[in-house]
Amino acid sequence: MKLQFWGVRGSIPTPGAETAFFGGNTSCVQISGKDQPVVILDAGTGIRKLGLDLLKNHRDKKEIHLLFSHTHWDHIQGLPFFAPLYIPGYSIHIYGPVHYEKSLEHILDQQMEYTYFPVRVAELQAKIFYHELKEEAFNIGGFSVRTKYLNHPVLCLGYRFEMDGKSIVYCTDHEPYYNFLGDDEGSEEMNLVVEDQNNRLKDFVRNADLLVMDTQYTEAEYPSHLGWGHSSTTHNFELISKCDIKKYALFHHDPDRSDDDEKGVIEMLRNKGKDAKLGVEIFGAREGLVVEA
Ligand SMILES: [Zn+2]
Ligand SMILES: [Zn+2]
Repeated sequence: MKLQFWGVRGSIPTPGAETAFFGGNTSCVQISGKDQPVVILDAGTGIRKLGLDLLKNHRDKKEIHLLFSHTHWDHIQGLPFFAPLYIPGYSIHIYGPVHYEKSLEHILDQQMEYTYFPVRVAELQAKIFYHELKEEAFNIGGFSVRTKYLNHPVLCLGYRFEMDGKSIVYCTDHEPYYNFLGDDEGSEEMNLVVEDQNNRLKDFVRNADLLVMDTQYTEAEYPSHLGWGHSSTTHNFELISKCDIKKYALFHHDPDRSDDDEKGVIEMLRNKGKDAKLGVEIFGAREGLVVEA
């Protein structure tokens, strides 16, 4: 099983010389396995190039599975620029968390209304199938897939892929659960719920060969972003220390973080890992990088 990064930035695209090394496109990754259909996680702006690559180099692959973590802009905004949507003969399965007030189809349709985009969903040529998900398990070709709710201001899913004894976990836009009532008397029950939720996430990522994890903030940046729905380096260091992760990719880089700053953050975590004698390989997700699980 392999994972390729096509977009690694959080929140908003950040083109420019200062971010060229890791890349400025928003979230999009591809998971591939021998003789498996095309699997894509999130349709941030990185999906545009991926669509062109499919047309140019993988013309025979007409079955595409596109799984959304959630429907914030930075995870859906590339979708109208995904070329296979416009070509007859493609079957595109779209998955995402169920919303009770609006269907997934409706949410994605809305960003293609004429007010925002010149082509309507009704004009697309590919066959599109929608699958709304909760916490569940299912298969895509030879991949076993499991989902887990994450802690984010909108319903958001993490995905765990397994095949041939290997596993890849994609967990973006998640902040560890915390007791937002504070530690006052009477919140003991709340603390237990919080602990239980955080333990469930640990179980979900445990033993992953590759963990792609939202690491938007440093320890210093996190306190002023409490409740924004993203994790810090400190949170994730705890996660990789306790969950037997083999490879950990920092993902969803903050739009204000330059390449030099990001390299500094990675270096700091690697040193912490060495000091703690962790066997985990730590690196920053960057556009174009392919990682074997
Ligand atoms: Zn995001
Ligand atoms: Zn988000």
